[in-house]
Amino acid sequence: MSEKIYDTIILGAGPAGLTAGIYCKRAGMDIVVIEKNMPGGQVGTTYEVCNYPGFDKISGIDLATKMFEHASSIGVEVVFEEVKKVNLTDKIKIVETFSGTYLGKSVIICFGAAARKLNLDNERQYIGKGISYCATCDGALYKDLQVAVVGGGNTAIEDAIYLSNIAKKVYLIHRRDEFRAEKALQDSIKKIGNVEYVLSSVVVGLNGNEKIQSIDVKNLADNTVKNIKIDGLFVAIGRGPETDFLDGVNVDKNGYVISDANMCTNIEGVFVAGDIRNTPLRQIVTACSDGAIAATKAYEYIKR
Ligand SMILES: Cc1cc2nc3c(=O)[nH]c(=O)nc-3n(C[C@H](O)[C@H](O)[C@H](O)COP(=O)(O)OP(=O)(O)OC[C@H]3O[C@@H](n4cnc5c(N)ncnc54)[C@H](O)[C@@H]3O)c2cc1C
Repeated sequence: MSEKIYDTIILGAGPAGLTAGIYCKRAGMDIVVIEKNMPGGQVGTTYEVCNYPGFDKISGIDLATKMFEHASSIGVEVVFEEVKKVNLTDKIKIVETFSGTYLGKSVIICFGAAARKLNLDNERQYIGKGISYCATCDGALYKDLQVAVVGGGNTAIEDAIYLSNIAKKVYLIHRRDEFRAEKALQDSIKKIGNVEYVLSSVVVGLNGNEKIQSIDVKNLADNTVKNIKIDGLFVAIGRGPETDFLDGVNVDKNGYVISDANMCTNIEGVFVAGDIRNTPLRQIVTACSDGAIAATKAYEYIKR
């Protein structure tokens, strides 16, 4: 175990974590940011962002890269490791990754939210082998093939529109008989010829060998099940926090970390920011704002 004790360990390098890193570093704190994937979090998987001030239109990957470069340019250290366990209740906080252990006087939890799964028995078996939770990341693999998108919100419709430009055919499967997505998106998708709606329906089975080859789809109106041949299945049914291993941190009934307006959790020296906390709005701008507040409060905490 390293003997070094950081002022703050920031968990996750999405917009919340990178902003917290920038504010902590500028305050002169000794910090490390731990990230399991690409820096930028969900922003890196977003096709286009049009509501982040200063950029009327910017690709998600460009914005994520700019945030990471900004943080790096002022010396924010990001290590690429997955956090597997934490012990946050003592004065010195312990964060364990699959490669090492980090000690900190304080912690800012910025793990964000992850895609919800369909919760089918063999779903994990096909992740990366036909099942994806990110159309902009994996869509290009399905050129001229058949894919299905599951969901009825903005992300599902955006994914279906995006994939319709790549795939030969896109099935859009939704459990209700109408979509929740914004009207403008619904109007756009209506004009596309290679998208077929499969409404009032849910995916009940995944079939294939090495890769997924077809899905069983149940019509909730008449209980019939039909088999649809596909090469790829894109799941866009929302996102949720992964807080199971944050022992001792209070979460609400949906698993979001409970915090006050200062981003304080129930544990002294443990702060939270971004999509993982119980907040009325989960956006880039609010994640950045949370990250700035959490960093400022972490600074005040370690100076006390
Ligand atoms: C498809 C899509 C489109 C969107 N479009 C917009 C938009 O146009 N405008 C807008 O404002 N918002 C948009 N959002 C929402 C926005 O991306 C999020 O609100 C924002 O990214 C939240 O930032 P965050 O830092 O809290 O979390 P995230 O961005 O989720 O970052 C969390 C980070 O923590 C890391 N992490 C998680 N667990 C671990 C672990 N165990 N160990 C190490 N690292 C871990 C993750 O890999 C990730 O990088 C969109 C989201 C999606 C999915």
